[in-house]
Amino acid sequence: MFERMMNDVNPRVAEILDAALEGKEMSIAEAERLLGAEGADLHALLWAADQARREDRGDDVTYVVCRNVNFTNICYVGCSFCGFARHKHQPDAYVHDMDVLLGKCAEAIARGATEICIQGGIHPQKNHHDYHRVIADIKQAFPQLHLHAYSPEEIDWGHKKSGMALDDYLRWLVEAGLGSLPGTAAEILDDEIRRILAPRKLMTDRWVEIITSAHSIGLPTTSTVMYGHIESPRHVAAHLGLIRDIQKRTAGFTEFVPLGYIHERNKLYNVLGARPGSTANEDLRMVAVARLFMRPHITNIQVSWVKMGHKLGQLALQSGANDFGGTLMEESISRESGSEHGENTAPEDFRRLIREIGRIPVERSTLYKEIARFEDPALDPRSLEHEAPDAPPAAAAAI
Ligand code: SF4
Repeated sequence: MFERMMNDVNPRVAEILDAALEGKEMSIAEAERLLGAEGADLHALLWAADQARREDRGDDVTYVVCRNVNFTNICYVGCSFCGFARHKHQPDAYVHDMDVLLGKCAEAIARGATEICIQGGIHPQKNHHDYHRVIADIKQAFPQLHLHAYSPEEIDWGHKKSGMALDDYLRWLVEAGLGSLPGTAAEILDDEIRRILAPRKLMTDRWVEIITSAHSIGLPTTSTVMYGHIESPRHVAAHLGLIRDIQKRTAGFTEFVPLGYIHERNKLYNVLGARPGSTANEDLRMVAVARLFMRPHITNIQVSWVKMGHKLGQLALQSGANDFGGTLMEESISRESGSEHGENTAPEDFRRLIREIGRIPVERSTLYKEIARFEDPALDPRSLEHEAPDAPPAAAAAI
């Protein structure tokens, strides 16, 4: 039967997948070819990526217990895909003061968080001192927390205000307690696309400059892509190539996170005619191609459950991904663009979802150090809630 499926796989696709499984580096043109895979080609791609994941990372599925803290939603950059930003006179615009931020951190620690992810809008009246103070005050109050903070767009803004050299500015934030940067604000690293998505946001060269400066001072970052809007496989493949090239030079990326575009409440879809986000096939293809393309340079491929939802996330974890991301506890950037997938996944729910696909839940730190393995399900009763029931489910029993 498997042979029959393989007979339907395009010989060129089979050749690319074989080479990737043998550890040969995939070219950008080959990634572009795979990003269009359908039917038997798609099935073969997902299978190959799952094999590669097993070889690269074993059967562990990692997650981090963290909270997102958005300190302000006031932003005038005007990215067309953003449903989060507010003008300062809008009734739901906010700037949280330090007491509120510290309260959120205390709540997060009480729920087991090891990381706080801090991002916000580009508030025209905030400057480098505000960014520094947020980090310094939180780190002073809670030295045990890893502070994963400030997108390259926020770094760009604070850096320009500071008048410092870029690496000095980043060192100044690290000395205050910054632990890593989110590699967000990447979207698609192609200026032709960026001029439509976000003409006032930093362009590709500046994103690369900020990320590589961070890596050069030992400040790790994540890496991301946002797909499912106006880009084509050519743009995505080139973006992957750029991320891989940076990683070969710096080894500073901890992970790669594909982020499907959420379309409901923003101008990019409603006015500029973007596609209504990625399809399920596109989500799985993206994860699978990322696994095969990035190996062995980046071997942590993360599922964004906020964008995909839990069930598609489980499929993505069987199509090349090995990390379920963060519990988040408060996620408003995707929600306010129209995502329906909630703002919190409890650690025990992550463990149940991971066990449902026959894998091993492992809590990790932001920088992928193992914190706890949950190999024995009996020690984790809530995570067993949906596993192999003795009695048939109520609906089936009633039929
Ligand atoms: S994506 Fe970020 S920078 Fe762009 S408008 Fe939204 S909050 Fe501002």
